[in-house]
Amino acid sequence: MNSALETLRRDFGSDVIEPGAAEYESARRSRLASGSPAHVLRPKNVGDVRASVRFAASAGLVLSVRGGGHSFAGFGTNDGGVVIDLSNLANVEIIEKERHLVRIGGGATWGQVAAVLAPHGLAISSGDTKSVGVGGLTLTGGIGWKVRKHGLALDNVATAEVITANGQVVRASAQQNPELFWAIRGGGGNFGIVTAFEFVAHPTTDVFFGKIAFPAAEAATVLQGWADYLRTAPEELTSTVAFANPFAGGPQAPVEIYVAYDGDDPQLAAEAIDPIRRLGTVTGDDIAVKPYADTLVDGTTPAPGIQFVPRSAFVDPKSVPKVLQILAEVRTSERAPFIAVRSVGGAVARVPDDVTAYAHRQAELMVVTTTAGPEPAVEAARPALETIWGRLAPHVNGAYANFLTSATEEDVAAIYPTQTHKRLVAVKRRYDPGNLFARNHNIRPQQATAD
Ligand SMILES: Cc1cc2nc3c(=O)[nH]c(=O)nc-3n(C[C@H](O)[C@H](O)[C@H](O)COP(=O)(O)OP(=O)(O)OC[C@H]3O[C@@H](n4cnc5c(N)ncnc54)[C@H](O)[C@@H]3O)c2cc1C
Repeated sequence: MNSALETLRRDFGSDVIEPGAAEYESARRSRLASGSPAHVLRPKNVGDVRASVRFAASAGLVLSVRGGGHSFAGFGTNDGGVVIDLSNLANVEIIEKERHLVRIGGGATWGQVAAVLAPHGLAISSGDTKSVGVGGLTLTGGIGWKVRKHGLALDNVATAEVITANGQVVRASAQQNPELFWAIRGGGGNFGIVTAFEFVAHPTTDVFFGKIAFPAAEAATVLQGWADYLRTAPEELTSTVAFANPFAGGPQAPVEIYVAYDGDDPQLAAEAIDPIRRLGTVTGDDIAVKPYADTLVDGTTPAPGIQFVPRSAFVDPKSVPKVLQILAEVRTSERAPFIAVRSVGGAVARVPDDVTAYAHRQAELMVVTTTAGPEPAVEAARPALETIWGRLAPHVNGAYANFLTSATEEDVAAIYPTQTHKRLVAVKRRYDPGNLFARNHNIRPQQATAD
């Protein structure tokens, strides 16, 4: 038997979970994927993570690193390999009150972060769901209800503690190992396991949050009006428009504009939100003031066999009218997916392109389609999906790694423009030349890089 495994079993006890163990049935799954790994390891500290990495490297097995386990592509599990599940590394601690510096374990979820920060009037720009992991969301972006005002989650990272493929502990920040710091802010889990992040949180108040609904028939004008308004709206306002929901009437489903106004002044909030109310015939409006932490929803665990297949792309300012026109047309097509358009821009666009490996900073919007259901239904909807994306293709660019189900070469090329990819390959060669960390949108160390 592998002596590293014997040592792990001795040191980890019940935190080495293998087929036959009572906990195996739940441990083998991530939120959206099932697998049959040979070993699920639950390290409790940095030393355990280092031992786990050394074992995985010596075993020569596929390695999944699981943060919150929400990867749509199922990166958090595998068949026959090793899963390093970071859920025991979930501590959230304010380490410098004046700077609002918060140290967060690499296996924490955004719900755990919000629960600790809310009583201190602090928050970190993240996503919209409590159960999503800090690790996966941050390492690839982080687009949530504060994105226009406070940027991507990764824009708020000051330092990360990374265990690299050879088991070393490396700190990455603007001052220490800056290339690694650049790479982990967008390059996903390609470079090592982040055991802790240090984020600069920001003071938060209650926020105005909710949705305003319009009739489906007004989709074309409401969508265009929404995008036009966001160009001049205060950055405190972040918004998503959702429509064509197959579970709410498909073509007849209302057009719902979600708004999050980052502030608790009722007059300023009304000034920011009222122009949206004037975009059409309001059929519903549930906007209310609430603590920011209460805007985060619980992630659902789909029933066995139910798939969620998101697909995403970015929209530059000049293409916005055309893309919204196409979306307003295709929303009525048979088997159209659920469509959401998220506002980005604002603080995201103010960060120069080469500061992080996240490269889609000039996009004004992000389009996300989601097909959901049992496999036959998802397959039946595929032709309609392809037709829609075929129409969008000339007018959109890139892809958001966190909203992808697949991990093909084309996906990796869509996530990372050529120059970004080239730089990522150089960092990968330095920190993970053997490609131990490959269950991700993989940067292959041996890949030739085009100039
Ligand atoms: C219900 C739901 C809601 C979502 N909402 C949003 C949203 O509002 N905004 C948004 O931007 N995204 C959102 N996402 C997408 C989400 O950001 C991605 O699915 C993300 O990858 C999840 O991270 P995780 O840690 O939970 O997942 P995991 O499956 O655990 O990890 C995903 C990837 O990150 C790597 N990874 C995770 N943690 C670490 C770590 N500490 N060190 C090194 N590598 C690590 C894993 O190896 C894997 O490759 C949502 C997803 C779901 C399912």
